[in-house]
Amino acid sequence: MLNGKNAVITGANRGIGRAIVEKYAENGANVWACARSFSESFEKDMAQLAEKYGIWIKPVYFDLSDSNAVAGGMKEIFSDKLPVDILVNNAGVAHGALFTMTSLETLRQVYEVNVFAQVQIMQLCARKMMRQNGGCIINMCSIGGINTDPGYLAYGSSKAALIWITKSVSKELGRYNIRVNGIAPGLIDTDMGIYKSPEELEKVRKKMSLDRTGKPEEVAEAAVYIASDKASYMTGHILVLDGGRQ
Ligand code: NAP
Repeated sequence: MLNGKNAVITGANRGIGRAIVEKYAENGANVWACARSFSESFEKDMAQLAEKYGIWIKPVYFDLSDSNAVAGGMKEIFSDKLPVDILVNNAGVAHGALFTMTSLETLRQVYEVNVFAQVQIMQLCARKMMRQNGGCIINMCSIGGINTDPGYLAYGSSKAALIWITKSVSKELGRYNIRVNGIAPGLIDTDMGIYKSPEELEKVRKKMSLDRTGKPEEVAEAAVYIASDKASYMTGHILVLDGGRQ
């Protein structure tokens, strides 16, 4: 479904991002696999995936909380002088605390990664996509940005901002044939662990129509669909994948 396309994927080393890299590779896409820091095991993992699926995967390292590092990482990607067809802004950081217990410093740190870095990467890729006259941007949002559960001020509001940004930017970029969409997962089986206790987790799970948490691969399938030509008329959309959470 993505044959010959080139994709930038952040948070590629684990969780949902790792699953997206594999599904993209399986569907014929080449990938700049972005991770925070170098590791032998990540390099090996990416090389094995590339060989298995007959595409290229290039690891790129930068920390989303450092805007100079983000600019450097994107420069490295663009220096390959290849079209960037797809951007998956997946990396994100969780934080759970009551409003009164959330310091401004924490709020800034979460926003740095979940909002500012996302905008910076979108801007850099969008300028390139505008020159290419086309592209697709997918932002990993969250139902935490739609529901207003207590105890998640920093995370919830950062994801709400990302949802707003996704919808608004889609209106600015549509004329350049750039589609901008979001995925809003519910509870997915990764290390993210936003829920503090097994009891809290169980309470949330019971609210799901499908009576189970989601798998990273299920989110990755949606990311393949949105980036593919099959979703050519979809933009400004936030696809909720939450197992029917009430
Ligand atoms: P995860 O397993 O915790 O992975 C998070 C990824 O983001 C890791 O690759 C991590 O890199 C990267 N990352 C975090 N801070 C970074 C930074 N400063 N610089 C560079 N990379 C950074 O979480 P996940 O569940 O796969 O989450 C992926 C996305 O889905 C996030 O945006 C998250 O908010 C969203 N989401 C997840 C769920 C869920 O239930 N899991 C639900 C809704 C939305 P390191 O390995 O270096 O830390």
